[in-house]
Amino acid sequence: MADEMVRDSVITGVGGDNTEAESSASDEPPAKKKRGENYGKLDLKEEKLEQRLGGILCCAVCLDLPKMAIYQCTNGHLMCAGCFTHVLADARLRDETATCPNCRIEISKTNSSRNLAVEKAVSELPADCQFCSKQFPRNLLDNHESDQCEDRLTDCKFNRLGCMWRGPLHELGQHEEMCVHPNKTGAEVMEALKIMDQKRLEEMALYNKIFELLSFEKVTFNDLQWKPYRTDEFIHKLFYETSRFTAFNIQWVVKAHVNDSQGDPTQSCDRSLSYQVILKSKVAAPLNMHYLILKGPFGDMRAQPLVQHFEFSEEKSESPYHKLTLACSAECNKLLASKAVNFRLIMFQVTK
Ligand SMILES: [Zn+2]
Ligand SMILES: [Zn+2]
Ligand SMILES: [Zn+2]
Ligand SMILES: [Zn+2]
Repeated sequence: MADEMVRDSVITGVGGDNTEAESSASDEPPAKKKRGENYGKLDLKEEKLEQRLGGILCCAVCLDLPKMAIYQCTNGHLMCAGCFTHVLADARLRDETATCPNCRIEISKTNSSRNLAVEKAVSELPADCQFCSKQFPRNLLDNHESDQCEDRLTDCKFNRLGCMWRGPLHELGQHEEMCVHPNKTGAEVMEALKIMDQKRLEEMALYNKIFELLSFEKVTFNDLQWKPYRTDEFIHKLFYETSRFTAFNIQWVVKAHVNDSQGDPTQSCDRSLSYQVILKSKVAAPLNMHYLILKGPFGDMRAQPLVQHFEFSEEKSESPYHKLTLACSAECNKLLASKAVNFRLIMFQVTK
């Protein structure tokens, strides 16, 4: 079924053992804080040990205490996973070598390492619950906020009947006793049901579409790899391109660009990737194609699958750009930070 596995799509250097670190990298670093806002005062008598440690173990870029993976340059400067991939992504966008923000030594995925001792130490430091403001060790905080906190935000159980109430758990009982939604008539509840139905219909449409396409006569997939290139304009622009590959005995290429080819994507915090499929062979008749991109066996791109459609012909050999539905721009930075982006392209040809 697979036409051809692109040879260099099996890369081990990117990701590899770092899967845990990679997945935690999705937390975009918050806006810069001034060192000292939380931990800075050096009055040792007044400051607790944990505050002093916080000042030492924080990320050198965002000055926050990282939640998950912590990387270090070869001189030992610490960076949270979000800032680390951000620095790598920015360097790639500027076509420069990535350097440690502290000491300017070169940093990369191969010469920088995790610092497990710091990660563990940070996870023991106290942090405030976002709902009740009580302090807990960081490694217990998620569990407290999602399952135990009496002040955590909850939806009214009549949410499905259209109640929009959302408030602290300890007020939930009182609200639900007074909630008017269970006493509404069927006709009044219909509106909320319609909205839910609509959402479900949209989801079902995607599933049905994929199953319908899977029963086409001509289906193929390729595991591909985007590599970064630069245009030769005055200001070089970054774009991605796969090597040529064959599907249905025809040659193709998939291109991608950052932020709709915006002049300097490092100027904006929002990042997105869009891709287009390009026909590289001569064809006698138009090709009616559906296609979608998945993360594939070698990638770690978390994009929601969307089926695209385009009719390729001699005159129209390039599809329009389709935006990848990535979870957030941090997810996009994660891709930009890698040397190459792996994905699977599934293609379906409509034959008459
Ligand atoms: Zn950071
Ligand atoms: Zn350094
Ligand atoms: Zn709490
Ligand atoms: Zn309610």
